[in-house]
Amino acid sequence: ARPVVAIVGRPNVGKSTIFNRLIGERVAIVEDKPGITRDRIYGITDWNGKSFSVIDTGGIEIDGDDTILKSIRAQAELAIEEADVIVFMCDAKSGLTNSDEEVAQLLFRSGKPIVLAINKVDNMKRTDDIYEFYSLGFGDPIGISGSHGTGLGDLLDAVTERL
Ligand code: GDP
Ligand code: MG
Repeated sequence: ARPVVAIVGRPNVGKSTIFNRLIGERVAIVEDKPGITRDRIYGITDWNGKSFSVIDTGGIEIDGDDTILKSIRAQAELAIEEADVIVFMCDAKSGLTNSDEEVAQLLFRSGKPIVLAINKVDNMKRTDDIYEFYSLGFGDPIGISGSHGTGLGDLLDAVTERL
């Protein structure tokens, strides 16, 4: 079966923007599981000769998740269950937040390979803003920009190395 890469992170870091850049029109139609809506968030792409599915976990709506924190947690748990590699996305513009650290703890315990992507690195001035994310303990943060499409090659290299 095709390996699965899940994009995980709190709302507004740019998961859907990056997902759309990676998948474009190649969105797969998948059947919803009971209680979970997941159309338009699941697609197939390839890089370095490897084909894999990508899930935008932020688009998964899980019944009964009434708070943002509960829903991020449920999305992260689903990603942990299904993914072979997890792209953990944070935001250089807002910097490291408590919610990022909450998600990081869940991901850390999963033992799954994690690639740390820091989005919104839109200009040279912001390249220094990725360093604080080393403290999450997932190794080198990869700076990307959904607005400009920069850094995506490095991100995909890191992902496919772990597939
Ligand atoms: P999600 O909630 O994680 O799926 O985030 P979205 O993809 O919906 O993006 C949240 C907001 O951040 C939107 O207003 C995007 O236009 C904006 N955004 C996404 N990527 C970038 C980026 O690289 N730079 C900047 N400055 N804004 C971005
Ligand atoms: Mg989204």
